[in-house]
Amino acid sequence: MTKNSALQERKNAVFARGQGNAYPVYVKEARNAEVFDVDGNRYIDFATGIAVCNTGHSHPEVVKAVTEQVSQFSHTCLMVNPYESAVALAEKLTALAPGDSNKKAVFVTTGAEAVENCVKIARCHTGRRGVIAFNAGFHGRTNLTMALTGKIAPYKKDFGPFPADIYHVPFPNAVHDVSEKEALLSLKNLFKATIAAEDVAAIIIEPVQGEGGFYAAPASFLQSLRKLCDEHGIVMIVDEIQTGFGRTGKMFCSEYAGIEPDLMTMAKGIAGGFPIAAVVGKAEIMDAPLPGGLGGTYGGSPVACAAALAVLDVIEKEQLIDKANALGERFHTRLTKLKERYPSFIADVRHKGAMIAIEFMYNGDAHQPNSALTQAIIAKAQEYKLILLACGFYGNVIRFLPPLTMPEALAEEGLDQFEALLASLLDDVDGVDFEGTPQS
Ligand code: PMP
Repeated sequence: MTKNSALQERKNAVFARGQGNAYPVYVKEARNAEVFDVDGNRYIDFATGIAVCNTGHSHPEVVKAVTEQVSQFSHTCLMVNPYESAVALAEKLTALAPGDSNKKAVFVTTGAEAVENCVKIARCHTGRRGVIAFNAGFHGRTNLTMALTGKIAPYKKDFGPFPADIYHVPFPNAVHDVSEKEALLSLKNLFKATIAAEDVAAIIIEPVQGEGGFYAAPASFLQSLRKLCDEHGIVMIVDEIQTGFGRTGKMFCSEYAGIEPDLMTMAKGIAGGFPIAAVVGKAEIMDAPLPGGLGGTYGGSPVACAAALAVLDVIEKEQLIDKANALGERFHTRLTKLKERYPSFIADVRHKGAMIAIEFMYNGDAHQPNSALTQAIIAKAQEYKLILLACGFYGNVIRFLPPLTMPEALAEEGLDQFEALLASLLDDVDGVDFEGTPQS
């Protein structure tokens, strides 16, 4: 028995199945874009711990900053005795956030906590109850963020009852025939039929849906939302947890639309794997809650603040935003060739910087999502020494989230492996297993 399988057996015995793992691959070491397991296998990482290690695994600058911080102190609680690194980080994040308004920050520990805090701040500021989110959106697994998440299985299944005053509307999605016009009309109809605009505290949106399938909201849609929020005094929350920190080829994805969110969430790529998340937003909104109303024991940990400051330096010094765009182009070119080779299986190839996706279908019809093929790819990834992730409202998308520091040769090697993997599924048996009738 391999060490990996032995560990998986031990894990299965003591972990609830709800906290599952994509691969029975137990990590011993990870460097930049490579992961090494306990059995001595080496994998090319196209997942970066779900868009977290944008600066690669254990970037030397991050390791140095964290080691120095830990040798000084590891925790005092920001709400008891603060420290300079937290102030410096808030200064940087408020300056980097899109738009000219005076901004303030709150530090918490996870992405879901950042989303929850946005809702608290928006409700406190407006005195209103309603929060509108989008179908297929993902905002977290806590009680409130799960309610905001727009997909039932597995995120919401059997977890009800859900918090009140959360509403969902369609997200514009050209691949699946949801037009921008239809999405906006649904929102306006919601104001007429279900909740008056003046009772809505906030609208929350991902500029590119992450778990939902890497569908980008058109810039014009984000601009229309901005206008609608301004007209009705609604707080516009942009969830940049997966899209932030250079991932999409801008520091923040909202920049593509030229909009200034009222509140933004930041997490994942912020600190190279150290748990910290932030809400950054317009000062007059951020200051609505009373002192002590926001925060937590670990929010803005000094170790994570040191890591985040190092990450921001690395993004700038190594020009990782440019690299995200170059990587995205490289993947897009290679994946588009695959689309030409398998026209009846590949519905779409898309990318925003280094947030790259390939979507699978049956019978050359994008409306017949091929989740069986997607699952088969994930099942074979370990054999091809790749770390890959699936996503999508229909479970038929493979997403690529390479570290922005990934060397070109490694990206090519990984893409060669992906091509070989796909060929092993679609060429050998003439794709017979994945053709035919889709399951619902
Ligand atoms: N929002 C978005 C857009 C996300 O992608 C995620 C995590 N996948 C979350 C919120 C939740 O973040 P966390 O898992 O850190 O709570």
